[in-house]
Amino acid sequence: MTDNIQLTEDQITKAAESLKQLRPAYGAILDFYKQIFIAQEDSKDKLQIDPIQISEEMLSIKANEEFPLINLSEFVIDAKASKMLLIKICNIIKLSSTDMASSARAILKAIDAKEFDLDSLFFGLLEEDDSVFEKTAKKHDIKKDDLAFIVYNSIKPSLSICAQQLSTYFSKDQPWTKGYCPICGSPPMLSMFEGEGGERFLLCGFCWHKWSSRRLYCAFCDNTDSKTLNYLYSEEEKEYRVDLCDKCKKYIKTIDTRKTERIIYPPLEQVATLHLDIKAKEMKYESGIHFA
Ligand SMILES: [Zn+2]
Ligand SMILES: [Zn+2]
Repeated sequence: MTDNIQLTEDQITKAAESLKQLRPAYGAILDFYKQIFIAQEDSKDKLQIDPIQISEEMLSIKANEEFPLINLSEFVIDAKASKMLLIKICNIIKLSSTDMASSARAILKAIDAKEFDLDSLFFGLLEEDDSVFEKTAKKHDIKKDDLAFIVYNSIKPSLSICAQQLSTYFSKDQPWTKGYCPICGSPPMLSMFEGEGGERFLLCGFCWHKWSSRRLYCAFCDNTDSKTLNYLYSEEEKEYRVDLCDKCKKYIKTIDTRKTERIIYPPLEQVATLHLDIKAKEMKYESGIHFA
């Protein structure tokens, strides 16, 4: 299911332009992310990743136990392509007006001086080893969050290609009913309604795999009780809603693709809806994602 997220440069540009027209306040942020997303899609075509093999036996154990297919540390990263993308992303950030510009400059300088151990950062992110980020950030005077953002975005194409390859292990007759990603176990970043019947899908916040989900359901606590599941909706933005769970007080943003003719590129929708995050947080709901 991950495959349909891949768009061409032209389509991403069009998606960003129509969002900018609708919400001019997001102009600068959309221009910034558009460049990063185009660089990522471009990088996907060049990746060399051997598919991860899962045995029949392991597959049935995972399905029965409702375990995700792999741990984050099992993702295969094309380190060479990720390094090239990281440099590209740093160059985009360096020229942007974001406050990450100085971190991007410091990273490029350290790479030039051959003082930067990128492999340990790529694998540190997958191993969820914060200490390697802590050390590197301190040594090179980079903000740790900026470093994590840049490293994650550099390996994101590898993650999504791995997820795409692994998604062939799933069959339609065995739907995944959990709220975490069937590939990597991460919580969903976004939810989408698609097709005539408005089938609901969840999108992984880490590997961007997309899976079918129950309509009335909180992905973070498995709540299915209509009395404690609500949503925020505004007539001005018919294609969005924010699903709220009163049981765990978490929220997820939902895009109703039936309500718009625009090209939908979920990562762009994610950054163009920060006002919805603010609104949900003002109402004391929390985001359920680890990565942004
Ligand atoms: Zn995932
Ligand atoms: Zn909940």
